[in-house]
Amino acid sequence: MDNIYYPREATIKDIKEETPTIKTYALKLNKKLTFKAGQFMQLTVPGVGEAPFTPSSSPGDVKEMEITIMKTGRVTDVLHEKVKVGDSLALRGPFGKGYPMDKFEGKEVLVVGGGVGLAPLRSLIYALFDKIEKFKKIHICYGTKSPVDQCFKDEYKKWESKKKVSVNLTIDKPHPDWKGNVGLVTCLLEKNYLQKNGVDVANSYAVSCGPEIMLKFVTFKLLDVGFKPEQIYLSMNRRMSCGVGKCARCNIGPYYLCKDGPDMCYADIKDYPNVFG
Ligand SMILES: Cc1cc2nc3c(=O)[nH]c(=O)nc-3n(C[C@H](O)[C@H](O)[C@H](O)COP(=O)(O)OP(=O)(O)OC[C@H]3O[C@@H](n4cnc5c(N)ncnc54)[C@H](O)[C@@H]3O)c2cc1C
Repeated sequence: MDNIYYPREATIKDIKEETPTIKTYALKLNKKLTFKAGQFMQLTVPGVGEAPFTPSSSPGDVKEMEITIMKTGRVTDVLHEKVKVGDSLALRGPFGKGYPMDKFEGKEVLVVGGGVGLAPLRSLIYALFDKIEKFKKIHICYGTKSPVDQCFKDEYKKWESKKKVSVNLTIDKPHPDWKGNVGLVTCLLEKNYLQKNGVDVANSYAVSCGPEIMLKFVTFKLLDVGFKPEQIYLSMNRRMSCGVGKCARCNIGPYYLCKDGPDMCYADIKDYPNVFG
């Protein structure tokens, strides 16, 4: 294994604006890297700092990778405002376990994203598409504040055109350019909505990524409509530093989210006090 502290060089090949506060960075790596959907990288902006991000692109053996980043503070402000195509960044990783793809085989997978939370899930979506014959159905549910805040807008039609895949979108409040669902993402998880989409709850896994408050209410709604804690996986993308279970910034009970997660089965963490922050 490579030295986990030794960063590899990544050159920015392209920058795409997804929303006014979210950009996707296409990175060319100086050396091949293998990662699984859900594993994360530590990205360094030289002279500024390091922050964890989960790639939004297809997993596998890659020499290129996309990372979709929301502008929210010190490192991400510089990424959004100063960094340009051709600049060099540094990457460490991958860290974490990634999604339990084997468990999902033979099941329906309900993917529930909020805001920039669709970024890590996009990597999972591509991984599911790669072996689509192994999964019963893939239901993608995505909520944002408004249509302006939707990431990967130009991909939904392509996703939906695949057999066995449904894409369900909602925005928080009515908007003049929007004719679809209005309400928080949990409205897409109501019993009647799931029935309409043909979701077989007993035969499904749900995977969710988004703000902590969203994860909390998505979890409660999933339990309410019949999911068992064992069927729910949450991407716990909270503050991390070392990435390898040493610094204890990210633990929940005995689990280090960086090492044992960041995608955690709700059954494993539900009894600890700080699950939702
Ligand atoms: C495993 C993992 C995967 C992730 N994947 C993604 C991804 O794909 N895309 C993405 O956009 N983000 C992702 N994140 C979140 C991302 O890591 C953070 O947004 C990033 O670290 C912010 O860094 P920053 O230096 O720009 O912000 P910071 O300067 O660290 O600030 C971030 C936020 O925290 C607040 N803050 C700063 N200091 C404090 C403090 N002392 N107390 C309380 N609040 C404070 C700031 O006001 C701001 O709102 C992921 C996080 C993890 C752990």
